[in-house]
Amino acid sequence: MSKETKTTKPKSTKPKSAKSAKGAKAESHKFEAEVARLLHLMVHSVYSETEVFLRELISNSADACDKLRYASVTKPELLGKDSELKIQIVIDAENKSLTVQDNGIGMSKDELITNLGTIAHSGTLAFMERAEKAQDLGLIGQFGVGFYSAFMVAEKVEVVSAAAGSDEVNVWTSDGAGTYTIATAKKGLVVDGFRGTRLTLSMKEEAEKFLDVPELKRIIKAYSDHVSFPIELAEIKDGKTSEFDKANTGSALWTRPKSEISEEQYNEFFRSRGGVFGDPELTIHYRAEGRHEYSVLLFVPKERPFDLFEPSRKGHISLYVRRVFITDDAEFLPGYLRFVRGVIDSEDMPLNISREMLQNNPIVAAIRKAVTNRVLSELGKLAEKRAEDFATLWSSIGQVVKEGLYEDHERRDQLLDLMLFKTTKSGEGLRSLKDYIADLKENQTAIFYIAGEDADHVAASPQLEGFVSRDIEVLLLSDPVDSFWTTTVLGYEGKPFKSVTQGEAELGAIAEVDGDGKTDEKPDGVDDSAIGTLIAAMKQALGENVADVRKSDRLTKSAVCLVADAGGPDMALEKILAHQKDGPGGGRARILEINPTHDLIRKLADQVKEQGTSVDVEDSAQLLFDQARIMDGETVSDPTAFAARLSRLMLKGI
Ligand code: ADP
Repeated sequence: MSKETKTTKPKSTKPKSAKSAKGAKAESHKFEAEVARLLHLMVHSVYSETEVFLRELISNSADACDKLRYASVTKPELLGKDSELKIQIVIDAENKSLTVQDNGIGMSKDELITNLGTIAHSGTLAFMERAEKAQDLGLIGQFGVGFYSAFMVAEKVEVVSAAAGSDEVNVWTSDGAGTYTIATAKKGLVVDGFRGTRLTLSMKEEAEKFLDVPELKRIIKAYSDHVSFPIELAEIKDGKTSEFDKANTGSALWTRPKSEISEEQYNEFFRSRGGVFGDPELTIHYRAEGRHEYSVLLFVPKERPFDLFEPSRKGHISLYVRRVFITDDAEFLPGYLRFVRGVIDSEDMPLNISREMLQNNPIVAAIRKAVTNRVLSELGKLAEKRAEDFATLWSSIGQVVKEGLYEDHERRDQLLDLMLFKTTKSGEGLRSLKDYIADLKENQTAIFYIAGEDADHVAASPQLEGFVSRDIEVLLLSDPVDSFWTTTVLGYEGKPFKSVTQGEAELGAIAEVDGDGKTDEKPDGVDDSAIGTLIAAMKQALGENVADVRKSDRLTKSAVCLVADAGGPDMALEKILAHQKDGPGGGRARILEINPTHDLIRKLADQVKEQGTSVDVEDSAQLLFDQARIMDGETVSDPTAFAARLSRLMLKGI
């Protein structure tokens, strides 16, 4: 819903295009609600390091030059005579304006509307929510919100853009307060040969410090030195534009020798890739030579990227061929390494390779294999050399890496070596499978785990008691993927993974220990025949609610617990599957295990043996079953009956 308004009148420093655009009709548009929110945040920002706006605008211009260079491989006419791609910045202190211009791909009217009127990146939305909540605009500097950051320093922004190959020029203008206007004119009528995008920022008073050549040189050097196109700087004084002066090194960072690159330069390059916070934990930079030649500059972010759990599971590796940008969509790493960011630059792929052709390209396949191995081995080295840093990193990316356990059978062992877990022995830290294997108990034949939705709840499960009392370590798994990989991974170092909520615990061969870690030889004094009679009575009382009732060797404190049978999924996986099929509560009947050493069970057993079954025994069986369900985080099957039984028994106790 746009309404017609008057054309914006350009200032004297405006490009010729805009000046001659007069006569063209300007339409007014409303910003999408999210953009309006983001702009509000920018316009009212009291953030002190507003200088990052320049990094964002230069980065957009560099992308536009990259895109044009790629397009011109098959359509050289798009470049024409204006073939030296570059970014130019002009300071006009007198008119308080700053111009950032590129001769890249440019934008059509529709592109201006979608690109500068909506938010395409879910990361930006997530950023905005975080920044609004925390009232912390420091995040802007770390995260980068692209074009919109211009409104931190400018009270008005004008964007003149001409898409390569089109004969139209569009002028987009906004003061960031809810609406923008677009005016269209024929390029032939307005300007000779203008192509690309020119941003003119009318600077806020407090941002006038950026209208200074040495200051801008410093900012360009600090944030954008790695940009592979020349960034040139000039100023207008007394109506005259000075000579342009190159302000960056202008060679792609990944082509430079490692020894010449500072950590800060690497970090800036990482941040310029967008969608990430903070610094990289790992920087992987090398050049591969041999059958295929290519350069690799990859980063593993310290902080979890926003889009990590998006269904698209999209990666973020850009492909260049001999410094020409090809695509961000080449799948150079498997989905479970989608947190890795960076660039791969091939020396031997054809320049005119289409994005579709990449999928079946043997060079891509070879690079993919080598780079995946390299990333995993670098992660392995980090785990070895800086275990604490790796553990912190693991808490943000581990959940994703685990997907590799069922997706990448070839590298399963390598992945298992990386895994870290909370366990019954890890305390505040994390343990590896190597740690686990080193601490196996005598006669222990499996790696035990318990899976569930919530780490604290999992750690308090009754099914763990017999393991804890024997000092057997159990992995505490609470990521949704855990229920899946544990069913497909056969084992580690010859030991199978076994859920403690499934099948018989088979703990008989492992001795219990008391609090001092010594073997506990207390006889349990349980009357086996009485327990047998109780089990028969409970089975009768519970009927089809349970698949079986049996004596447990996994319980030491609680009276009862539920387990799944040995054949199917474990309890956690069953819950997930039941949720998907019939909703909560669905799924197969479970096995109720009873603790023969528990006072309540003993007394019940004695009573059944002496007096036979009764209403009390039936009530107790039902209540114990419901208790077991509650301990598993479920609801009782029949709340009214549950309340009636509980009241009956309580009454007897009073
Ligand atoms: P991002 O750069 O992260 O995509 P921005 O909000 O900065 O987000 O920009 C949105 C889109 O606008 C870009 O993806 C790009 O398509 C377009 N754009 C921005 N600046 C330019 C430019 N100088 N030339 C061409 N297109 C641009």
